Amino acid sequence: MTLPADYDLLIVGGGLIGSSLALALASQPLRIGIIEAVPPNTQEQPSFDSRAIALAFGSRRIFEGIGCWSAIAPDTTPIRHIHVSDRGHFGVTRLDASQASLPALGYVVEVRILGQIVYQRLQDFPQIELICPAKVVNIASEATKTHVQIASHDHIRTLSTRLLVAADGGHSLVRQLLQIPTQKRDYGQTAIIANVATERPHQYRAFERFTDTGPLALLPLDEKRCNLVWTVKNIQAPYLTAVDKETFLARLQQRFGQRLGRFTRIGKRHAYPLQLLRAQQQVAPRTVLIGNAAHNLHPVAGQGFNLGLRDVAVLAQTLADAQKAGHDLGAPETLSIYAQWRQGDQHLVTGLTDTLVRLFSNDYPLLGPARGLGLAALDLFPPLKQQFMRQTMGLAGRQSRLARGLAL
Ligand SMILES: Cc1cc2nc3c(=O)[nH]c(=O)nc-3n(C[C@H](O)[C@H](O)[C@H](O)COP(=O)(O)OP(=O)(O)OC[C@H]3O[C@@H](n4cnc5c(N)ncnc54)[C@H](O)[C@@H]3O)c2cc1C
Repeated sequence: MTLPADYDLLIVGGGLIGSSLALALASQPLRIGIIEAVPPNTQEQPSFDSRAIALAFGSRRIFEGIGCWSAIAPDTTPIRHIHVSDRGHFGVTRLDASQASLPALGYVVEVRILGQIVYQRLQDFPQIELICPAKVVNIASEATKTHVQIASHDHIRTLSTRLLVAADGGHSLVRQLLQIPTQKRDYGQTAIIANVATERPHQYRAFERFTDTGPLALLPLDEKRCNLVWTVKNIQAPYLTAVDKETFLARLQQRFGQRLGRFTRIGKRHAYPLQLLRAQQQVAPRTVLIGNAAHNLHPVAGQGFNLGLRDVAVLAQTLADAQKAGHDLGAPETLSIYAQWRQGDQHLVTGLTDTLVRLFSNDYPLLGPARGLGLAALDLFPPLKQQFMRQTMGLAGRQSRLARGLAL
């Protein structure tokens, strides 16, 4: 019988969050394994698909701290202004990078490119091993170690680790195997995403337009191209993904209006059913949940990955500090430092996105004027706007070393 392979850290899921954690810890003397089901450089990889996401300014800082922002930056488009409106009602809010004294509120990047950059960097670190394709089958924890059974190329093998990190996404098998309860809300909404070309240039503006079926967002790409995230009721999604391009663009135009002139072209459409899912516990014996495995949010206001990257930054710091102090990485004391630190931010952002979706995705007659007043107040009252911007950019609250752009 061969002895189980021994790791300091095993990360289940090498998607956006799991791979970022491995890179964040690359400077540490740790043996790290990433167990990933789907090879990162293939079309089927679910985390690095054809989406573009908005990185908040705070995420730029974290990537600076990790040391890879200079590689990512050339492939991003800055968001200098955000225009928020409520279809069919008065009241708009305009957020501007100059109001926050920053060069940009955030940056749009295609996730496939982000994945390529992170994986390219990981190759420089021989102590980080990609175990792929491999799926977790079972987990057993004992006092000093966790044993993880994986299925790879029709073979089952057992690896052991001081700490297991579940970064295996919204359907996390690790979370299920450990029987961690979740809080769920089905919004009855699906996001349709596609790249669209517009008659007028976006001038680095992003748009968030609330409609009665759900929010519609446009993120700037190159000069006259945007990434569309259009949330519709589940029942409308099959029609809108199958209908011919002209009809789709006419429907989109009717919902969005003329702020960017005519929509002239559209790329391939993809549909994502949406729900809120939050694990009731973020840690379990010798295990921690991060990213979508811990909190799977509605994409309104583009918060999911940004929140997960702040999990990465805080976990990396907690583990680096424990390592330097000679403490056990998987000890309950280490994990509770992480869980307590992350609680407030996770709670706030989950609550914010959930409230926005439920408040704006309806046509109750009395709510329209109240929402209009809310948007106008946010626009006109600078301290409120500053607070809102700092929170959504990931700059509020206690900041980790990486989030301050510093090395671990
Ligand atoms: C339409 C849409 C738009 C969005 N826009 C934004 C945005 O603008 N800004 C933002 O911050 N966020 C945005 N998000 C959210 C963001 O995409 C997610 O938060 C992010 O992808 C989460 O990454 P993750 O690595 O935690 O999970 P995932 O991306 O789900 O990755 C999980 C990984 O684990 C692997 N895996 C799963 N099970 C196993 C197993 N048993 N064994 C081994 N490997 C396994 C999978 O293959 C995958 O690689 C958006 C989401 C959607 C749906």
